[in-house]
Amino acid sequence: MNIKEQLNEIKKQAKNCFNCPLSENRTNTVFSDGCEQAPVMFIGEAPGKNEDETGIPFIGRAGQLLRNYLKEIGFKENDIYIANTVKCRPPENRKPSKKEKEACEFFLKKQIEFVNPKIIVLVGSTALESFIDKKTTITKARGQVFEKEFAGKIRKFIPIFHPSYLLRQHSERDGSPRFLFKKDLINIKENFI
Ligand code: SF4
Repeated sequence: MNIKEQLNEIKKQAKNCFNCPLSENRTNTVFSDGCEQAPVMFIGEAPGKNEDETGIPFIGRAGQLLRNYLKEIGFKENDIYIANTVKCRPPENRKPSKKEKEACEFFLKKQIEFVNPKIIVLVGSTALESFIDKKTTITKARGQVFEKEFAGKIRKFIPIFHPSYLLRQHSERDGSPRFLFKKDLINIKENFI
């Protein structure tokens, strides 16, 4: 089986997964979007309403904002793969619990193992906490490259702001959250594609 077929098998398992209570209210599992051989993998927190309805990650307002920036900066479809720490939507868009993230980690590990990206972009504080350090903040950690063992080897991670934060921050002036978000994405493109 090639990588695409192997990931499709894992996706089928996720579709039929009842390993945590998030299965109870889901419409769809939200497994991934993008290219299975992409150099850049984005990991967000969890599916929201739009994602639950469509089965596609990062498709709501915040996701579209990220996608628009990626397009503007010149990322191509083959450059990116997108997933979340959990594959089913938490009720009321709450954060997924530690237990839920642990229950779902099998799928994420397989995704990282098969895609084997050059860089894993942690989108927002929940993804940051899951992989790097609960004590640090996204404001301090964003834009820095961290190296950590995960899914069988030392991997590179870089946190960025969550695009939902930018929905409330419209300025792109020097030092603003949108400015820093764009700067981080440009650095990722220049260094890892
Ligand atoms: S969130 Fe993950 S572990 Fe929980 S039911 Fe969905 S696929 Fe299974």
